[in-house]
Amino acid sequence: MLTLMLKRAFDPSEMGEEECGICGCRFEGESVLAHILEFDLGTACPACLNHLSKRNPDKFPSLEELEDAIQRYPEPVYTSAREVARLQQAEDPSVHKAFAASWLTRAAS
Ligand SMILES: [Zn+2]
Repeated sequence: MLTLMLKRAFDPSEMGEEECGICGCRFEGESVLAHILEFDLGTACPACLNHLSKRNPDKFPSLEELEDAIQRYPEPVYTSAREVARLQQAEDPSVHKAFAASWLTRAAS
């Protein structure tokens, strides 16, 4: 079974057109994406997320959760990929913390 987890885009390069790892359709990736944790499938489009969460709401985040997260975090974690590269090069530990924090855990229902 697949695992989908919402994650904030780390920098603007992670936003924009994506190909859904489940249905193969192109979609516009926003500031929060549903990542498929298995099989290197990348990210799931909102339609697939919606379908899966309706089938099994305990297992998959809902479209509402995705939309709420996009509202809550309308911007990527960092303003540019260059900023991320600079911090990584400087071995700044904040970048690891920010990466861990960019995975959004589901609110307990
Ligand atoms: Zn899809």
